Amino acid sequence: MNKKYLSFISIKRPLKFHTKFLVFLLGDINMKKKNTKPKDNLSTKNQAAQLVENNPLKEYHEKRDFNLTTEPQGNEEKTQNENKIFVVQEHHAKRLHYDFRLEHNGVLKSWAIPKGIPENTTDKRLAVETEDHPLEYAEFEGNIPEGQYGAGKVTIWDKGTYQTTVWNEKIIEVTLTGKKLKGRYILVPLKKGTDKNWLLLKGKE
Ligand code: MN
Repeated sequence: MNKKYLSFISIKRPLKFHTKFLVFLLGDINMKKKNTKPKDNLSTKNQAAQLVENNPLKEYHEKRDFNLTTEPQGNEEKTQNENKIFVVQEHHAKRLHYDFRLEHNGVLKSWAIPKGIPENTTDKRLAVETEDHPLEYAEFEGNIPEGQYGAGKVTIWDKGTYQTTVWNEKIIEVTLTGKKLKGRYILVPLKKGTDKNWLLLKGKE
């Protein structure tokens, strides 16, 4: 890759311009590799154009050239039906609660649930939205030391995969496949806007 291309794409420019330039750039790569793998290069070109158009990792991708770096491109290939991780962590902080986390767009969306996961369809459990956690957090167990945020013991209460039925601002509906938890669960925000309070409900079978 020519260095002048790299300095060119690092400058902030409108998205359309970037797209055109990327396609142009990949066209250039295609020409150089033409004799080796023309079909692969064509699909790479289409993928890259798509990534720039609609991807939550747009900025991450724009800053990197994956022909040059070995950094991961991320899970942009995942579809809605593919299994994603969920975890429930029992957290003995100042006050015991259960942290419910769902993999979404490369992070763990997180809610702290004081009374734990609902056991039947008439339970309504308050779920307070907390900050996104890295995916690796799904493996975490241990003691958060005194004085640190959330000090106390964390253990994995349940873990598994889930599928999404609906995910928007008004409702999140998922089907969990864990060791303890199996079936449909629904999260609904209590109020519109920036309120962090949700309800977690168990769906009917
Ligand atoms: Mn917690």
